[in-house]
Amino acid sequence: MLIKGVPASHAIGMAPAFILPPNPIIKGQETIRPHQIGDHLEQLELAVDHLKKLYTQTLASLEQENNTVQSQIIGFHRMLLEDPEFLEPIQAQIRQGWAAPSAVQKVVEELSAQFAQLESQYFQERAQDIQDVGNRLIHQLQGIRMPDFSALTEKVVLVADEILPSDMAVIRCDIVQGIVLKGSSTTSHTAILANSMGIAAVVSCGTAIERIAPGETIYVDGEKGIVEYSLPPQRIAQLEESIDHYHRSQVELESYRDRSTLTQDHTSIELCANILDLSSLQRAAQVGADGIGLFRTEFLYLDKVLPPTEEEQYQVYRSAGQTMKGRPVSIRTIDIGGDKEVPCLGVRQELNPLLGCRGIRLCLEQPDIFLTQLRAILRAAAQENIRVFYPMIGGIEDLLKAKDFLFQALESLQADGYPIPADIQQGVMVEIPSAALLSHILIKHCDFISIGSNDLTQYTIAADRLNAHIYRPDAHFDPGVLQLIYKTAQSCTQAGKPCSLCGEMASDPLAVPLLLGMGLRHLSVNPASVLRIRRLISHLDLAKARQVALEALNCDSTQAVLECILTHYPSIEEYRYDKEPIYEH
Ligand code: PEP
Ligand code: MG
Repeated sequence: MLIKGVPASHAIGMAPAFILPPNPIIKGQETIRPHQIGDHLEQLELAVDHLKKLYTQTLASLEQENNTVQSQIIGFHRMLLEDPEFLEPIQAQIRQGWAAPSAVQKVVEELSAQFAQLESQYFQERAQDIQDVGNRLIHQLQGIRMPDFSALTEKVVLVADEILPSDMAVIRCDIVQGIVLKGSSTTSHTAILANSMGIAAVVSCGTAIERIAPGETIYVDGEKGIVEYSLPPQRIAQLEESIDHYHRSQVELESYRDRSTLTQDHTSIELCANILDLSSLQRAAQVGADGIGLFRTEFLYLDKVLPPTEEEQYQVYRSAGQTMKGRPVSIRTIDIGGDKEVPCLGVRQELNPLLGCRGIRLCLEQPDIFLTQLRAILRAAAQENIRVFYPMIGGIEDLLKAKDFLFQALESLQADGYPIPADIQQGVMVEIPSAALLSHILIKHCDFISIGSNDLTQYTIAADRLNAHIYRPDAHFDPGVLQLIYKTAQSCTQAGKPCSLCGEMASDPLAVPLLLGMGLRHLSVNPASVLRIRRLISHLDLAKARQVALEALNCDSTQAVLECILTHYPSIEEYRYDKEPIYEH
């Protein structure tokens, strides 16, 4: 039997189902007498202190293991427990005669409802964090033990309405083989953590999860978003084989770790990784990426009360350079605004945020923030192989202004007596159609271009990339998008400068022959895709890729482009799921 949910990670797994009961519903109705108020205030204080200690311990072990995403989440939870805007209303409710657990319940409900109603997905997800902290606080106040995931010793697939992000932070990925959730979304902290921990996860399964019996063996395919249950023995055997196959294929992929990225006809390709924090940096280094093609620096600003200081940023950028041991690290200046909101920068509300003040536009509006980041990047670049590039460049004016800020940052560092890099390569992200059309002009004023195919596709076909109803996973094969990528690649080839592509398209095996065929020699993919894309490239012949790309560029529709690719590379789809590849040249 099959449950169809939403894919939330790249892994697959199978194990007995461990069904978690829904969190007990605590009615916020319990009142106290005036003489009990002091006791309840004290109980609250003790519970908060206890939780803060717990979070501090968890944080210390996460930081030791370099689990940055987990650390940020737990750090945010601890910060909430120190925030008077969270604690004072709870104390006020107790003073008004509500028992401590009821007071917490009331405030958490109110706050999370306010957040959940906001249009922004970022704040909706933070509602989950507030409930998480509130839940723990109530359990602590009532002396109820919460499930301790760190105590699980047998392999399981967790099935639950919801799993708290703070639980994910202590889950062991050798024990938990999969996660199946009734609710949640791919952008929830729980799903992000499952993905970064390599745990198979399917979310938004709805009430269908109630059909799963406790202890029965279930199979989770996080890439396809399906859960299989009520499995007859022969199906279990089949699935075990496919999981073995998946693991063998992972082992085979390992052999590509320390190889250079070469096509079958020995053309060298630079295959870099996209990172978004220090743990993805570690993974990029572990899989032997040829460099960092996109360092999304927004994480430094997330969940912060104040923007990160120059020193803080410098340490992170320098450590990225050190970790990559001389291989290039391309740092993208912050791309905040649009769908990426960062409260500490106080981005104003706009009717169309994706067409509003995001990326370089925000930096040009907030020079202090921009100069601080540029100074930190330049200080790191004086010691490491670091490049800088700018997001959402609309045309030459944006680029010249950004370069001017870089020059100011250099001068101010020099005046302050810091060593500065002899030279730093500056690049432009081509994400806006006009930038692609004007790429022959832009490339004259910078050292490299990196195509952000996620945004380039979104803006070319006018389809919100977060709106699953209108944005198809194959949208980047739209012939209009391909024309813009080709134009950009040609501009760079003619100028003799590098052109990279760092959107999700570079991780799509079907797109790789087209990109190489259009002349790109630099790709940047998520760390989990480095080895399989390197393996695919090693089986591609450039002359054939060129011919297929030219044919695809003449196609009338996305469907025709896909048919063209599959006609010439009939087995290429196998690479999407890491199955045994059948190579054709
Ligand atoms: C892109 O737009 O393709 C890109 C890589 O940038 P981001 O996904 O961070 O917007
Ligand atoms: Mg982008």
